[in-house]
Amino acid sequence: MRLSRYFLPVLKENPSEAQIVSHRYMLRAGMIKQSAAGIYSWLPLGYKVLKNIEKIVHEEQIRAGHIPMLMPTLQSADLWRESGRYDDYGQEMLRISDRHGRDMLYGPTNEELITDIFRSHVGSYKDLPLTLYHIQWKFRDEIRPRFGVMRGREFLMKDGYNFDLTKEDALHAYNRHLVSYLRSYERMGLQAIPMRADGGPIGGDYTHEFLVLAETGESEVFYDSEITDLKFGNREIDYDSVEQCQAVLEEFTSRYARTDETHDEALFAQVPEERRRVARGIEVGQIFYFGTKYSEPMGATVVNEKQERVPVHMGSHGIGVSRLVGAIIEASHDDKGIIWPEGVTPFHVGIVNLKQGDAEADAACEALYKSFTALGLEPLYDDRSERAGAKFATMDLIGLPWRITVGPRGLKNGVVELTCRRTGESEELAPEMAVEKVAGIYAGL
Ligand code: ATP
Ligand code: MG
Repeated sequence: MRLSRYFLPVLKENPSEAQIVSHRYMLRAGMIKQSAAGIYSWLPLGYKVLKNIEKIVHEEQIRAGHIPMLMPTLQSADLWRESGRYDDYGQEMLRISDRHGRDMLYGPTNEELITDIFRSHVGSYKDLPLTLYHIQWKFRDEIRPRFGVMRGREFLMKDGYNFDLTKEDALHAYNRHLVSYLRSYERMGLQAIPMRADGGPIGGDYTHEFLVLAETGESEVFYDSEITDLKFGNREIDYDSVEQCQAVLEEFTSRYARTDETHDEALFAQVPEERRRVARGIEVGQIFYFGTKYSEPMGATVVNEKQERVPVHMGSHGIGVSRLVGAIIEASHDDKGIIWPEGVTPFHVGIVNLKQGDAEADAACEALYKSFTALGLEPLYDDRSERAGAKFATMDLIGLPWRITVGPRGLKNGVVELTCRRTGESEELAPEMAVEKVAGIYAGL
């Protein structure tokens, strides 16, 4: 993409309504525009990051054997009356009536809808296990929408639902989700710690929230610092193996890590004092096992091997896709702007032409642009006739992990400058070598 033809409405001033850094940078970098309280348009740069996060979530869900689909945002109130949640959910639910006076709602979550789909089409244990998921907009009429996309009213969520014959099978599905979530967050350049949580209105005995540590997080968290040394990394895992998934769950949840809702001072006191941490965190996902809470009242049953009709065991598993854009910025920025992890960056590399209109510099930039594109990478080429300082400031603000600076002086010596956004370190390289180095970094992801 050439910046002269892109839509990147960068703001010079700090927007006064933004209280936290991710909100400030998302507005300044032209990623989002508020359309109403807690409701945002995703401008091209923000949209790209959102899509990259979605792609990682899809890939990791599919790898775990979960099946993508799409349910609507608007739902009929009747299904929610069946589960009893139409009255329970309270004011966070946006209730609408259509022209015939039918009660509708903008889905805050999808347990009822998916259970209805399941009961309409599945009747035998032979069709289990089954996990269906979608990535769809949700609406919760939050009393205090704030911090930009972190606590929106309309927000994008991945929600998945498992259907299993027994509790044991459903707990395996729970563990599979835990593993796939660990992988997803790491690919986004994040450490998200599974912490024991509270069931809340969705209910359930087994539940973990995934928290990204950040000062601006809304949850207070208590944990054993050893947990921050754990990495899932590139290990191979067989998602069908009950033992392997269980082992990962045990590894990542055996140390003390809880949110304020489930915090237990006496247990926490057993953690050696020098490892006890009290901090803040951003909830970027949650997994639940809730048994037959919805399948029983809604009649989602299957015939088992003994020809008995039994309600299925279910769980639901959510990732806050749009909140993650803010969470990643909270975890990765400096005073100049965002620092995108390679896994989610909107463009792979920025090209800055120090002397637009200089025949040699222009040609070198064009050649770099072509080389990256041919390798399947997306460069953002700042081809505007701006001062170098302004170009650097824009690149720093939008946070591409790598930048190549091209100027007549370097070209005389056959070199361009490659700069790492995170460390600020630069090196001079022949243009082909710079391309090779950047391509190598992305190939290794
Ligand atoms: P919270 O406690 O932050 O209100 P929740 O526990 O009610 O969230 P879940 O039902 O667990 O939310 O939804 C799954 C994920 O969706 C959450 O982990 C979070 O990342 C995201 N999410 C929930 N509410 C919002 C919101 N208002 N804006 C953006 N993302 C949200
Ligand atoms: Mg939650």
